[in-house]
Amino acid sequence: YPSCSKLLVLFTLSGGSLVAYSESQSDIGTHSVEHNQKEPRKKRVVLLGTGWAGISFLKDIDYSMYDVQVVSPRNYFAFTPLLPSVTCGTVEARSIVEPIRNFIKKRGGEIRFWEAECVKIDAANRKVFCRSNIDNNLVGSGEFPLEYDYLVIATGGQVNTFNTPGVMEHCHFLKEVEDAQKIRDSVIDCFEKAVLPSLSEEERKTNLHFVIVGGGPTGVEFAAELHDFVQEDLVKLYPMTQDIVKITVIQSGDHILNTFDERISSFAEQKFQRDGIEVQTGCRVVSVSDKEITMKVKSKGEICSVPYGMVVWSTGIGTRPVLRDFMDQIGQTKRRVLTTDEWLRVKGCENVYALGDCATIDQRKIMEDISTIFKAADKDNSGTLTVKEFQDVIDDILIRYPQLDLYLKSKHLRDVKDLLKDSQGNERKEVDIEGFKLALSHADSQMKSLPATAQVAAQQGTYLSKCFSRMEKCKNNPEGPLRFRGSGRHQFLPFRYKHFGQFAPLGGEQAAAELPGDWVSTGHSTQWLWYSVYASKQVSWRTRVLVISDWTRRFIFGRDSSRI
Ligand code: FAD
Repeated sequence: YPSCSKLLVLFTLSGGSLVAYSESQSDIGTHSVEHNQKEPRKKRVVLLGTGWAGISFLKDIDYSMYDVQVVSPRNYFAFTPLLPSVTCGTVEARSIVEPIRNFIKKRGGEIRFWEAECVKIDAANRKVFCRSNIDNNLVGSGEFPLEYDYLVIATGGQVNTFNTPGVMEHCHFLKEVEDAQKIRDSVIDCFEKAVLPSLSEEERKTNLHFVIVGGGPTGVEFAAELHDFVQEDLVKLYPMTQDIVKITVIQSGDHILNTFDERISSFAEQKFQRDGIEVQTGCRVVSVSDKEITMKVKSKGEICSVPYGMVVWSTGIGTRPVLRDFMDQIGQTKRRVLTTDEWLRVKGCENVYALGDCATIDQRKIMEDISTIFKAADKDNSGTLTVKEFQDVIDDILIRYPQLDLYLKSKHLRDVKDLLKDSQGNERKEVDIEGFKLALSHADSQMKSLPATAQVAAQQGTYLSKCFSRMEKCKNNPEGPLRFRGSGRHQFLPFRYKHFGQFAPLGGEQAAAELPGDWVSTGHSTQWLWYSVYASKQVSWRTRVLVISDWTRRFIFGRDSSRI
């Protein structure tokens, strides 16, 4: 990223991971290709995907060492955090995309790109099968195989409907640039339809009922964008709709933004209440028809239906079919995403790496390590630690596993704090280890997978490209530098995620941010921080200028409400 963004680097979305030789006998025997005279001089790397993980890998890979080929059905990178802004015209779609061929040009053009979709991975024969998704009228089948020495899978996830009936047919999604453009058109359609003379008052209300299923960061940000669009622009253009527009967020959990610090989650809920955005928590959508959305209220077990004008489904991500098939091949059938080790190598096959939203690092070992740390600290085997010892143990755990900071210091802070107090709320002198482990196990399911964010994907891409760049050096010196020789297991340090915080824009020029060190920041100044960070994180000067000029245009002229 350009140097001008360095000042903000602490607050930014992504960061590099230090890669170095670690204590180590390399396990190169099982995880690298034996030298073969018939193979081309350069090892062939096939990269699937041009999202956050793929582009970060591509930006740093040393192409003088590898013959790199990239396969992706879209020939651009999309800056997904600004997709909600595209839905309402705050930012134009073309401002947040960067052509892949621009990246390639910058790298001297030595990387080959194929606009195609990988339809099958044949790990046994080190091949992938691809199919072009360009217009069928073109001559030729558009299908081709690619052979690889190393395969890097960064295909992200796809929308997850949880097999809820009617969702695919009647809901909008917010995953790709095209989705955002469709939503923008659909919002305008709802307003144009609502003012037609032939409609009853009830029908106008229904047309202007916007429902968002999913109270995670994407759903909440879209709700906030839509609210701003309606209040700042649309009700002025469609005055008769002023009092009948309704925005509802349906969330199955007890709170919206429940992966954020609870201070942010309650700030967001209060702000939405003031803005008139209805938040229905504890409700699970069971079906969607062309006119109504039906949900089950968990506490009462009741089923109710509400009519809507437009529904946006934003409930997380699922597995792509090509990966489902691959997972079956390699014995990962029951998994939701590809499982890798801490070096991002896919378990159960050789020379295949997976990163970003399509992968998860198997972190069961972390829980085992935590048990070992506790055992060592509990010298008298009493099952308890003094508060001081306990805090030292937590520090030790966080040094080894900084990624746990997110869980220990924010979402699960209450559980840990509770352990330091007795039932009357007095400070304890000793802490029950099992109690702590239980509290930690509440976070266990989340610890097993890092959050599916651009931040994780980008760090993994950078990490892996650095590993690849050093692979040759390590092969020539498999034991690593003298100072590291010993009983280690791998030539590289494992991937360690560094959490730089996360933002939740809440509309009305206000945002909330969770920053490193358990800091929470909310309000207008946070929104300005958001603007600076997102401008600085653009992948090129072209998109940076376009995005900033879109924001300026919006400040001066408002958003464009034409449906083109
Ligand atoms: P993606 O970015 O999804 O990229 C996947 C790539 O694989 C794409 O290029 C796709 O075309 C390609 N592909 C798909 N199928 C195939 C195939 N069969 N063969 C070859 N290529 C294929 N994260 C944050 O950290 N902060 C945010 O503010 C934030 N906001 C978000 C807002 C929205 C609306 C969305 C949808 C996501 C947001 N995220 C955010 C999450 C973030 O976008 C993802 O975590 C990130 O994109 C994951 O990167 P990835 O490279 O794994 O996958």
